Amino acid sequence: IDKFDKGMEKTRKSFSDKMNELFAGFREVDEDFFDDLEETLISADVGFDMTLALSDVLRDEVKMKNVRTGEQVKNVIIEKMVEIYEKGQTELPTIKINEDGPTVILFVGVNGVGKTTTIGKYAYQLKNQGNSVLLAAGDTFRAGAIEQLEVWGQRVGVPVVTSDAKSDPASVVYDALKQAKEENYDYLLIDTAGRLQNKVNLMKELEKINRIIAREIPGGATETLLVLDATTGQNALIQAKQFKETTDVTGLILTKLDGTAKGGVILAIRQEMDIPVKFVGLGEGLDDLQVFDPEQYIYGLVK
Ligand code: GDP
Repeated sequence: IDKFDKGMEKTRKSFSDKMNELFAGFREVDEDFFDDLEETLISADVGFDMTLALSDVLRDEVKMKNVRTGEQVKNVIIEKMVEIYEKGQTELPTIKINEDGPTVILFVGVNGVGKTTTIGKYAYQLKNQGNSVLLAAGDTFRAGAIEQLEVWGQRVGVPVVTSDAKSDPASVVYDALKQAKEENYDYLLIDTAGRLQNKVNLMKELEKINRIIAREIPGGATETLLVLDATTGQNALIQAKQFKETTDVTGLILTKLDGTAKGGVILAIRQEMDIPVKFVGLGEGLDDLQVFDPEQYIYGLVK
């Protein structure tokens, strides 16, 4: 059984239970039906904006195509969800590559969302694809964060640049950039501290790190990936908005999709922000990070 399908089980079950309930009482596509549909989608964490957008296009589609049966309505829902999600971008999102030197990827996100684990998993993937990978322990704030990244480095077999706890993360980043350039690493993955409680400090720290990267790598970080915990539902969306204000996020990673019924939040996030979800986390193991495929996800939801 496919790992993604298995990881999506809880979300799918909660989503399809709600949809089945909706369609069990289906009579015709009238205003009552749309009210119930909107309620169903919102309770499935799809978010207010996505729900309204979907309900609007459905109304038009139902008129135009003369949709009548429950099965037809379901199919139109899937089709329209995919269209709204893709916003015309039908290719899978990729990670950019810096052709002229190390590809530098900055990982940001609140403590506990799964940042360090995600870096470990991604380093493992990159290494298996034949790349040389260096990690930088830029979270010098959280107790244990440096050691935790070192453990992942050992597991995966990639070196980790560290400094003493409580030291300036910018200096670790600087050392790592130097080493990555001198030793021709393909990838440098940088862990950062995630204190959103102290927004000003976080912003200053990320700004400083970004300045240092921009000095060493023309154009700055190749990607800035925001890691979000899917189990937190709408909170993940709030975090995404807050981080977007402080730094130029180029992609999202939704972790812990395996442990939640709230996976519908991916739709909410997509609707409100123009940042693609690039990966999803489906477990705690090395193999549990996957490129996010919106069609697979949406068909899985309603299946
Ligand atoms: P950080 O503080 O953001 O660096 O978070 P960690 O990487 O330490 O992860 C916090 C916890 O979440 C750990 O127990 C991880 O094993 C767990 N975790 C991370 N990603 C996933 C995932 O995709 N699925 C599951 N089930 N657990 C995860």
